[in-house]
Amino acid sequence: MKNDKNLGSWLEKFNLEHPFIMAGPCSAETEEQVLKIAHQLKNTDANVLRAGIWKPRTRPGNFEGVGALGLKWLQKAKQETGLLTATEVANTTHVKLALEHDIDVLWIGARTTVSPFVVQELADALEGTDKIVLIKNPVNPDLALWLGAVERFYSKNIKNLGVIHRGFSTYEKTTYRNNPQWQIPIELQNKFPDLPLICDPSHIAGRRDIIADICQTALDLNFNGLMIETHHTPDKAWSDAQQQITVDDLKTILSDLKIKKTTDLDNEYCKQLKNLRTKIDLIDHQLIKSLSERMKIAEEIGRVKKERNVKILQNTRWREIIDKITQEADQNNLSTEFILNLYKVIHQESINHQLNRK
Ligand code: PEP
Ligand code: MN
Repeated sequence: MKNDKNLGSWLEKFNLEHPFIMAGPCSAETEEQVLKIAHQLKNTDANVLRAGIWKPRTRPGNFEGVGALGLKWLQKAKQETGLLTATEVANTTHVKLALEHDIDVLWIGARTTVSPFVVQELADALEGTDKIVLIKNPVNPDLALWLGAVERFYSKNIKNLGVIHRGFSTYEKTTYRNNPQWQIPIELQNKFPDLPLICDPSHIAGRRDIIADICQTALDLNFNGLMIETHHTPDKAWSDAQQQITVDDLKTILSDLKIKKTTDLDNEYCKQLKNLRTKIDLIDHQLIKSLSERMKIAEEIGRVKKERNVKILQNTRWREIIDKITQEADQNNLSTEFILNLYKVIHQESINHQLNRK
């Protein structure tokens, strides 16, 4: 089924009937490994063979990539299979070597996007290139930093630009290795609607069993492509072993994906949707009115406390509110996590109103 999102120009040239697929090992390990995986991928929907040559490891002492030597293996894989090749570049030497070896797609890793100095150097080094350049989100959930990197590359006339969402690191342990925080790539999509958006479910998941689910969510959220770590013997991979999958598993995931339409012009459907959206608009209107009322009362409370010289923050009262709303959330089929997050924001805003700082 055709993915009918308005694709960015370089993606349109591929004229794909399916999402843009990048697959391959986390790291190039040996020539045999790269060629083996490339040949397995040849008969799949994969468009690009990915493999890290220089590996950014958070702590030293782990396998840090085979270095420039691996670029020759990628070149060979391309000659033998016709797949495009992709690798991560993190400094200007990497860029020079990757270009010399005719790598087609260069991606900027999450640990690089955090540094505007390095991003600027890479953008300068790639000025005017017709290679595909993909910018991964920074490790921390900072949309501005991600947007800034996109702007630095755009302003160097790099036309074949795209972004990769690989999730965000969190201090607390979650289900994910890197929390997807989907609202961040959605906001980026709103700012740059024509910029191809690729999801990297492997680094979001950190494990195999939830990769398919993340891929489906990404497509439902208008992502244009997927980058999935794939290995011929995943358990023996030299890096990120827990999250790599076999090419057979990749094929299953891709064939199970449901590619949905952007819209449907059927009259009955349009009428139904319009009715439901009118209801949502009405509720939104009521929510705004209620919030405004709540803030007015908060201001009133602020005045009363001020007259008596009483502190703004009353922990006992805040705990009481939390207990009440989490209980009510539960009775009303709302997740406590959602209600707690929402109330933290409402409470902060109420304090601002009490302090007259809005
Ligand atoms: C990778 O894609 O192998 C990689 C190192 O990813 P990230 O920069 O997202 O950690
Ligand atoms: Mn990896």
